[in-house]
Amino acid sequence: MNKDRVRLIENPVILQNLCTMRDKDTDSQGVRIATRKITRTLLYEASKCLPLVEKTITTPLASFKAQTIDPDINIIISPILRAGLIFTDEAIDILPQACIRHIGMYRDEKTLKPVWYYNKVPMQVKDSHKFHIFITDPMLATGNSLIEAIKLYADKQIPLENIKVICIIAAPEGIANIQEKFPQVEIITAAIDSHLNEHGYIIPGMGDAGDRIFNT
Ligand code: URA
Repeated sequence: MNKDRVRLIENPVILQNLCTMRDKDTDSQGVRIATRKITRTLLYEASKCLPLVEKTITTPLASFKAQTIDPDINIIISPILRAGLIFTDEAIDILPQACIRHIGMYRDEKTLKPVWYYNKVPMQVKDSHKFHIFITDPMLATGNSLIEAIKLYADKQIPLENIKVICIIAAPEGIANIQEKFPQVEIITAAIDSHLNEHGYIIPGMGDAGDRIFNT
C-alpha cells in the first residue's frame, strides 16, 4: 500500500461512531446518524485540497482580505448508489456550491464486478483542471466500482490528483486494486479493516452498508 495516497482519519469521535455503525444491534436510524457524523469529518478533510482565493470583505469593524474557496472551480460529489448517498446531505451542507452527480452501480453477487444502471456524469468537461471530484462510497471493498467511477472522470482528462475517493471502511485488497490502476488518486478513509471474505464483504466491516443504512 502506498501510504502517501491513503489518508486515515482517526479521532475519538470517529472511533465512537464507527463502533456504533458496525454493531449489529444498532438499528437503521442509529447507523444513519453515526455514519453521517463520520462523513462530515471526512468531507472536511477532503476539502483541504480545494484552492483558495483572497476576497476583500468588510466586517462590521474593518475591511479585511479573507480567504475563501475559489468560486471559479467545479466541485463534484459523486455518490455511488446506494450507500454512497449517505454522504450527500452533509456534502451539500458543507459545500453548497458543489453539484451532485450520481453514479448507479451494483455488484454482481457472483463475479463481484460492477454493473452500471445510472450515470449522471457530464459528457463534456471544459477546463478539466478546474474540476475537483469527491467520489463517495462508505465501503471500499474490491474497489471495482470505484475504479469504474474514477475512469469516468479520468477519461474526461480531469487530473487524477483532483479526484478523491472518500469511504468510511476500506479493505486492504480494495486499496491495492485502486492504487494499482490509479496510484495518483488519494483515498480518504476512517478505517482500514482486516480483509475481504469469499463473498467480497469487508471483515469485520459493518455488513451490507446499503441494507443497514436504508433498512432493507
Ligand atoms: N459493500 C458493503 O456494503 N459491505 C461490504 O462489506 C462490502 C461491500
